[in-house]
Amino acid sequence: MDYTEFRQRGKEMVDYIAKYLENIDQRQVYPDVEPGYLQPLIPDSAPKEPESFDEVIKDIERVIMPGVAHWQSPYFHAYFPAGNSFPSILADMLSGAIACVGFSWASSPACTELEIVMLDWLGKMINLPEQFLACSNRGGGGVIMGTACEATLMSLLAARTKVIRQRQAENPNLKEAEIMGRLVAYTSDQAHCSVERAVLIGGVKVKMIPSDEKLAARGEALRKAVEEDKAAGLIPFYFCATLGTTASCAFDNLLELGPICNAENLWMHIDAAYAGSAFICPEFRYLLDGIEFADSFDFNPHKWLLVNFDCSTMWVKKKGDLISAFQINPVYLQHDHQDSG
Ligand SMILES: *Cc1c(COP(=O)(O)O)cnc(C)c1O
Repeated sequence: MDYTEFRQRGKEMVDYIAKYLENIDQRQVYPDVEPGYLQPLIPDSAPKEPESFDEVIKDIERVIMPGVAHWQSPYFHAYFPAGNSFPSILADMLSGAIACVGFSWASSPACTELEIVMLDWLGKMINLPEQFLACSNRGGGGVIMGTACEATLMSLLAARTKVIRQRQAENPNLKEAEIMGRLVAYTSDQAHCSVERAVLIGGVKVKMIPSDEKLAARGEALRKAVEEDKAAGLIPFYFCATLGTTASCAFDNLLELGPICNAENLWMHIDAAYAGSAFICPEFRYLLDGIEFADSFDFNPHKWLLVNFDCSTMWVKKKGDLISAFQINPVYLQHDHQDSG
């Protein structure tokens, strides 16, 4: 495909997309195909000879669309809303064209700097305390993750590294494995399954805190679990609170839980994947009260904010905790502005 054809095909694709979205309500929202429907519609191996682009495009309606669940349909009420928008689709095109790999400031400065500034904008929009914002120069800042599951995992691993280092600083004879075997994380029995998975990957124990009659995690239940576990020789180190639970959009009581986490040296991560966008509205901000006790916070613009999947935004109060937990510094990636990202 040359530039001339790309210009033509690009315009055709935009027309196809506009028509798809404009008439999406006329498509059956969920496909009635059986597992394995797709393979018989296409060859077993990649063809030796290329097909024309027209032939390839025909496969969208012949092969792909019959198996698509139309998440953008007005009749789609499963899982959660995963909005998109025209600006978001166009931005995906541009980002596909620039196709930079922004693993450090030097690998494409605009990539890192735009991310930092946008996360400050978004953090201000939902009224995060300024310690979470890069512009406050108080050690905090935001980063874009793929998903909320990833943010939970990152926070848990950073918390794990932090507590291991603290314990080894107090007692240099302690082996990492000894500490790891005693670490215990907490979350409510209403938390998203990604917390359990993070704990599984992190190789630590987890205790589910029973929620109250409003399905919220409360301070007393956490305190009781922490005290029991400390008495049993375990090391409580992490608590994941949820603002807007998956089952019922319940809100954990941060004002009760936060002080306990701070006093007991538990990293408090807040998973607001679903409901976090609501904090843009001043009338819902009271649900964020207690955020000041948290170490990290994450929500999903790819749910309610008309941004294509995947875009999950995470803020940490001390970015050093996250950076130092995952730091590797191979010589081929070193550059003169390492502090910039
Ligand atoms: C949707 C959701 C998740 C998972 O989000 P991903 O971005 O798909 O990982 C986690 N927690 C809660 C509360 C959610 O609503």
